[in-house]
Amino acid sequence: MTAQISVAEQGHRCPECGADVPVESRFVTWCDACDWNVDPGAPAPDPRRIEALRRRLAQRYGERLFADLGPRPGRDVAGVLACALALVVHGVTAALAVTGLLLVVLGWGMGVLPVVGAVLLAIAVALRPRFGVLPDDTPVLRRPDAPRLFELVDEVAAVAGTAGVDTVVIAADANAAVSTYGVRHRRMLRIGLGLWEILTPPQRVALIGHELGHFAHGDTRRGAVVGRALDSLALWLYFLTPDSETDLMQRVTHWMMAVPRWAVLGLLHLLDQLTLRATQRAEYLADETAARAGSSVAAAELLDRLLLVPSVTSALHRESVVAHSRGGAAARREAEQRLWERLAARIESVPEREYKRLRRVSTLRGHCADSTHPPTHLRRRRVSEGTQWQAAVRCDEERAGAIAAELTAARDHMAHVVIRDAAADQ
Ligand SMILES: [Zn+2]
Ligand SMILES: [Zn+2]
Repeated sequence: MTAQISVAEQGHRCPECGADVPVESRFVTWCDACDWNVDPGAPAPDPRRIEALRRRLAQRYGERLFADLGPRPGRDVAGVLACALALVVHGVTAALAVTGLLLVVLGWGMGVLPVVGAVLLAIAVALRPRFGVLPDDTPVLRRPDAPRLFELVDEVAAVAGTAGVDTVVIAADANAAVSTYGVRHRRMLRIGLGLWEILTPPQRVALIGHELGHFAHGDTRRGAVVGRALDSLALWLYFLTPDSETDLMQRVTHWMMAVPRWAVLGLLHLLDQLTLRATQRAEYLADETAARAGSSVAAAELLDRLLLVPSVTSALHRESVVAHSRGGAAARREAEQRLWERLAARIESVPEREYKRLRRVSTLRGHCADSTHPPTHLRRRRVSEGTQWQAAVRCDEERAGAIAAELTAARDHMAHVVIRDAAADQ
């Protein structure tokens, strides 16, 4: 606060080096000559140990791979080890189930044995590897619902060298993802409108390109064996971590579970180490697919937009709070109707200087989209300094309009959900 005042007093001069600094009321005032006040929001370290660890590793591997992506490793040692470790994890679950079953069947009528067996069976059921499922609380589009959108996805898939998707799931957040669901491993593309709506049509093509690139480049962490083992381990950790230790009994339990907890943490760490390099490589390759589909320029712009994700989240939250504070169904309806347009306009008005600041912050903090992605600034540099691709898939005004029309019902529904719920979140 005092820094802001001193800037005003010194006629928008940097208090550190005296350079001129433009002041824009909605954005942070900072100096691009000496980085004064470039990152006023102190980075909050992630309280979850595993997340923090992954983030550090993501950064380290991201930097190494940036220097040398190298040839595609076939079945490398790390991959084989990860697979073996994952099978051990699944083996433990299977052993629990078999032991539980034997205790119930063979120990029937022998005191507590069947009870112990039932408990083991219950644990095995809780830990079993699961197939992905389609969400039931958000719009799910199939080909007949949005033929033009699926046509676009198909074209991008052809560029990526993979098949299209079976469903498109529409969410509200500023994110996108691909995953599989069901026994037959059907493909799902998840589009968060908080991201989709702030993108230009070529940037959307790049976004779909990045996501389908994950299918094309084979990502072990998403695979059935390793992916499910990581899920199981996370679940084990959850069961082994008591949420509070207020009384003596809880403290004793906490202490007794310390050894298995460390073992699980160690296993998770090891699987992370073994797979993260391949995952990061897949991310860089997915960015390349994004560039080939939507152009290198659009792919770089997409990465800039990712830096605005926190602004999107807070803007959606604020829209909801304002609508609720005005009160009345009419005010909320009005907010719903214009939600996505207002968000897009807000993001559109972000000046280049703010992107420049966020890129600096991203470099300083080592910003990653999440704990498995390489640092965003390195991804951007790869895209903007590497081979310059022209767009292989075009999305003109007519096409973008037709797709937007197909998404109308889902957009309206998600706008309703955001205005209804976002004020209560956080
Ligand atoms: Zn300065
Ligand atoms: Zn990705």
